[in-house]
Amino acid sequence: MTSARTRDRLIERLRSEGIDNEAVLERIRATPRHLFVDEALASRAYEDTALPIGFGQTISQPYIVASMTAALIRDVPPGETLDKVLEIGTGCGYQTAILSPFVKHIYSIERIRPLFQRMSERLRSLGVNNVTLRCADGWQGWQSQAPFDGIIVAAAPPEIPQDLLAQLADGGKLIIPVGGRGAQGLLCVTRDGDEFRRREMGLVSFVPLVEGVER
Ligand code: SAH
Repeated sequence: MTSARTRDRLIERLRSEGIDNEAVLERIRATPRHLFVDEALASRAYEDTALPIGFGQTISQPYIVASMTAALIRDVPPGETLDKVLEIGTGCGYQTAILSPFVKHIYSIERIRPLFQRMSERLRSLGVNNVTLRCADGWQGWQSQAPFDGIIVAAAPPEIPQDLLAQLADGGKLIIPVGGRGAQGLLCVTRDGDEFRRREMGLVSFVPLVEGVER
C-alpha cells in the first residue's frame, strides 16, 4: 500500500493533471507521505486527496502541494535554490519536506502546539534539517527574518495580510489561498519593487487562517 508502484501511480496522476516540474515530481515520489498521517490512514496516503491530521486540520492534497511548490520555484534555474522561504501553516510538515531541497533555509510557523510538537519530531527523524520552526500565529509573518524570497501559506485568510507582502524580497513570490470557506482562489503574487503582480492559480479549499496560538 506504500509500495513503489502506488507512489508511481500518484506521480503519473499528478503529471496527467499538469504538473510538469520533474524535480518536484521526483521529490514527491521520494517522500514517504504515509509517515505524515495516522497509521489508520496510511493506506490512503498516496491518493491525490487531503486527509485529516487531527485538530480539525488536514494534510494538503499532493496536487496542491506540487503546484504551490512548482509556482514558488518557477524562476529558479535548475540546480539552484531559493535562499529564504517563509511557510505559514506547517501542519504535519509534508509541504515543508517537499520544499526542503529547493530552499537553503525554511522558516515555518504553526499555531497548534500539539501538531507543532509531533511535526517537529517527524521532520527531525526524516532528516529535514534546513528548517527553523516556531509555534506562533503566522498572520504577521516573521519580521526578524524578513525579507523572504518566497512565502507559502497553507491556510486561507479573507484577504492577503499586508505584513506578508511587506516581507517579500524584490522578485519574491507569495503563494496564498484567499477567501472564505469553500470559495477560495489560490494566488501567486510576485513583488516587483513597489508593485505586486497577481496571477490566479485556480479554485482551492483550505482550512481558514486563524489568529492566535492554540495550546
Ligand atoms: N502544510 C500542511 C497543511 C496544513 S493545514 C501540509 O503540508 O499538509 C494548515 C495549517 O495551518 C494547520 O495546521 C493550521 O493549524 C495552520 N494555521 C492556521 N492558521 C494559522 C496561523 N495564523 N499561523 C500559523 N499556522 C496557522
